Amino acid sequence: MKSHSRISLVVAASLTVLGGASAPALADNASAASVPTSGAEWFRAGRSAVEANKLVNRELNTRRAKNVILFVGDGMGVSTVTAARILDGQQRGVDGEWNRLSFENFSDLALSVTASANQQTSDSAPTATAMVAGIKTNDGAISVDQSITRGEFCAEVTRAKKVKTIMERAEARGMSTGVVSTARITHATPAVNYAHISNRDWEADSSIDRDLGATVLPSGCTKVKDIAAQLVDFSVGNGLEVALGGGRPYFEPNTKADPEYPTRMGRRTDGRDLTAEWAAKPRAAYVWNKAQFDAVDPRRTKRLLGLFEPSHVKYEADRANDTAGEPSVADMTRKAIEMLQNNPKGFYLMVEGGRIDHAHHAGNAYRALTDTIALAEAVKVAREMTDDKDTLIIVTADHSHTMSIAGYPSRGNPILGKTDAGLDLLAKDSLGLPYTTLGYLNGPAGWTGNGSRREFDPVTEFVTAEIPFSGERPDLTDVDTTNPNYLQESAIPTAGAETHAGEEVAIYANGPRSYLVRGTLEQNAIYHVMANALGL
Ligand SMILES: [Zn+2]
Repeated sequence: MKSHSRISLVVAASLTVLGGASAPALADNASAASVPTSGAEWFRAGRSAVEANKLVNRELNTRRAKNVILFVGDGMGVSTVTAARILDGQQRGVDGEWNRLSFENFSDLALSVTASANQQTSDSAPTATAMVAGIKTNDGAISVDQSITRGEFCAEVTRAKKVKTIMERAEARGMSTGVVSTARITHATPAVNYAHISNRDWEADSSIDRDLGATVLPSGCTKVKDIAAQLVDFSVGNGLEVALGGGRPYFEPNTKADPEYPTRMGRRTDGRDLTAEWAAKPRAAYVWNKAQFDAVDPRRTKRLLGLFEPSHVKYEADRANDTAGEPSVADMTRKAIEMLQNNPKGFYLMVEGGRIDHAHHAGNAYRALTDTIALAEAVKVAREMTDDKDTLIIVTADHSHTMSIAGYPSRGNPILGKTDAGLDLLAKDSLGLPYTTLGYLNGPAGWTGNGSRREFDPVTEFVTAEIPFSGERPDLTDVDTTNPNYLQESAIPTAGAETHAGEEVAIYANGPRSYLVRGTLEQNAIYHVMANALGL
């Protein structure tokens, strides 16, 4: 398709917004693949983009939102979005730099300042709390304010410090609610919706007891309930309808073996079997593999809990190798929306691409990018299933990571490859060695004292294999850096993991009141945009 076809596509999409008859078609990246090839074509493409914006801005969607869907790419910083867009295009054989992920065509955009109440660079607990509860709080805090001490054991104190979440407000109004994640469903980002606790690590009762040790609780202090129990006991309104992710043992007693990995036992010491308790609710279902998940009829099922792994669900890149089978994040999003759409009062849904963050922590750009592409696919599904007129969709990240895109690679150079210097030559560092375009400021793949380079192990998901090399930096001349298990180099070797980064992340918004997403916003404004759109 010629480049001017792409231009008319952009304008046509905007006109559909004005007509308001139906959700505008998503810009089809595959059919809009042709990159401008002359100065005149670039000029026309740039001007058309501005013309399209003029049309959009003339009619703001000031309606109240019936539904809100919040997508959180955990650790999906701007450089991650850029690299994922390029990888997605290159994998599909189109111009990666010209490519766009589904949410990059949303009408509104802002930057989100992610510093928490006590951190310059934040962890996922206060950042997720900011997005769903409207306040900034301290590290580790799950929907409790900054006046609580991390590790506060008392339920009474926790209750006094808790902040109402968008899920609780939506439930109180009779809406349906759900949470989907590729991480454990008790992990920080999903947990902030339904739980209030001073320490994000207290996912099962045994984790609280381990930290409590011999400490005797003062009189008038009851031990706070763990995150998994708070999910199943969540009772605001009529309770949440959908919870899909990983983390089975946090819901099962330590006397019960895992159905997929029989040598692994549950983590609960209070004797509760929370999956059984969930399944006993009226018209409720509990599933733990893809076949059961696929068999769930969204019209006949009112409540669905799906836990597909003992810990996080598989990376998208490894999902096909799972023995019991797992749904993708797009599959889970589709099922969740099908169920939540049964309520005429509307719904609130959070979907987390939780493992973008984990792959970055491992220094493995490939899995971070392929999980970003999987999340973009889930956004596409959500937009196709809903109407721009009544559904606000927000896509953002909780924080960034230290991955950056460096050097002067040619347009079209493989994003996971080595930076080229044109004419089939590789760019060289000051030692005369080639380097990759993607790299981390810190992380596990730094060249270590014993002179070895490490690789990602897809089975253990830990960085285990040691590959020897000589010299100060590994010589990558004969290394295939596009291998999915390749770990990008890091400037500063950090034994445990690569870290989060502190710069702003993007907020993409589409639908009712999405125009409120503009400028540089503190992260907790995201809650207030959603609450305003819903009229809460
Ligand atoms: Zn992280």
